Amino acid sequence: MGAIDFTTLRHPFLNGADKKMLIDGEWRAARSGRTFASLDPADESVLAHVAEGDAEDVDLAVAAARRAFDEGPWRTFKPYQRQQCLLKLADLFEAHFEELAWLDSLDMGGPVSRILVNGRRVPERLRYYAGMAVAMHGETIENSVKGNVFSCTVKEPVGVVGAIIPWNNPIGASMWKIGPALATGCTVVLKPAEEASLSCLRLGELIQEAGVPPGVVNIVTGYGETAGAALSRHPDVDKLSFTGSHLTGQKIVQASAGNLKRLALELGGKSPDIVFADADLDAAVPGAAMAIFANSGQICSAGSRLFVERAIYDEFVERVAGYGRGLRVGRGTDPDTQIGPLVSRQQVDRVTGYLDIGAREGARIVSGGSRLTHGPYADGYFVPPTVFADVRDDMRICREEIFGPVVCAIPFDSEREVIARANATPFGLGSGVWTKDVGRALRLGRALRTGSVWVNCYQLMDPAMPFGGYKMSGYGRESGLQQIEEYLQVKGLWINAGDSP
Ligand code: NAD
Repeated sequence: MGAIDFTTLRHPFLNGADKKMLIDGEWRAARSGRTFASLDPADESVLAHVAEGDAEDVDLAVAAARRAFDEGPWRTFKPYQRQQCLLKLADLFEAHFEELAWLDSLDMGGPVSRILVNGRRVPERLRYYAGMAVAMHGETIENSVKGNVFSCTVKEPVGVVGAIIPWNNPIGASMWKIGPALATGCTVVLKPAEEASLSCLRLGELIQEAGVPPGVVNIVTGYGETAGAALSRHPDVDKLSFTGSHLTGQKIVQASAGNLKRLALELGGKSPDIVFADADLDAAVPGAAMAIFANSGQICSAGSRLFVERAIYDEFVERVAGYGRGLRVGRGTDPDTQIGPLVSRQQVDRVTGYLDIGAREGARIVSGGSRLTHGPYADGYFVPPTVFADVRDDMRICREEIFGPVVCAIPFDSEREVIARANATPFGLGSGVWTKDVGRALRLGRALRTGSVWVNCYQLMDPAMPFGGYKMSGYGRESGLQQIEEYLQVKGLWINAGDSP
């Protein structure tokens, strides 16, 4: 962690001035003049006042993105020039990495130690996109039409992209959408989450510094029901890439119908993590614990349903609970913190509401179970790692996404049974399997209906590996070739070159 003291770090970015939005290369206040407060989830203090953009600001941002796409210099940028922008941005991200990690930690509460490890993926991802910028191509297709007729496909950017992200990983989620847009030649309007917009705005400054022309990336801060809704129904947005809850995803599908814009939906989950008795338990215990407790459970693919083979159930559940009890809960910016506060009052109410529901439904609390309110936790949104045992599949805590550090531990008896129960959910984002049996690993790898299956690991990611959902966890993919293709459209080009000699 170097010499930086993250607990006392202050940066000129948080200088007391209102934070403005990036529209057409300029930093602007909301047209309404309104702002909202961004709070520190560790103590509810005000970190900054942020411009409260709404439909009027979204109109301006979309118009700027449209101009940049249709008329601006961006249109004439060759693939190598777009690649240079992405490479420069990756370098700038690295140069300012600790500051960005600190801003994210301060704003959304995640442990800075975790962000400093996971955030390292972001420049890798930007460099992957930089590689893709010069690797896209259409095809020459032999046709059987009479005459001297040539036919080929041309890949073209889809146009103006609206990007809406949640608060649980702002620096990662924003670049996951801006990166492919820059690689393919699209333009973007990003709407960060109202709970954590600060690092996205700082990234906006770095995007300018990287030489991305005005209007190519615009950032409108504000609330989901106003700014987010305006972006998702906007008739001049060609594609909307959304990450968030399935309930908002459903609203976005409806809002997109006006101009039938393309959608990519990265939604929530209730991911099964399955531990067989033959697993390496010394690896599976921390693996299963951090599959749910990392980032205080605020990860879309968190392993929130922990299926454990009955022969090892009691021992395994106690070991996961013990692991959770040993995690240090504290302010995210403290480098020793392993579990930070939840992001907001609303989120802490939601999670503690599920703790009550679980207790009422008859699940047994093995560890955690209630909000921390003493001493340093008094003013923040702290919930300790919680293990519910003896959970039945029909309980609400086992069916609904909690998005907190709460795991439901469920015994099972056979491979066939656990596959059926793991798949018995409307969601399908991620799943985990812990076993030493290669045949079983392959069988479950195919049988689990989720966009990612991790065997003897959890939540591994790579820029080249597609990530996304089955069923109500959404459609579209992030990372990998699939994502790049989703920012492109394919044109069939026919040229009648006249009669053959
Ligand atoms: P949310 O759906 O409430 O909000 C996400 C974003 O949508 C925010 O920017 C919000 O302002 C905006 N929004 C809210 N209402 C809107 C509307 N009517 N129209 C347009 N935009 C609107 O989600 P959240 O509670 O902030 O985030 C947690 C959810 O995100 C969880 O369900 C989690 O699983 C999911 N998530 C999914 C992934 C993934 O990759 N699949 C990653 C992270 C989080």
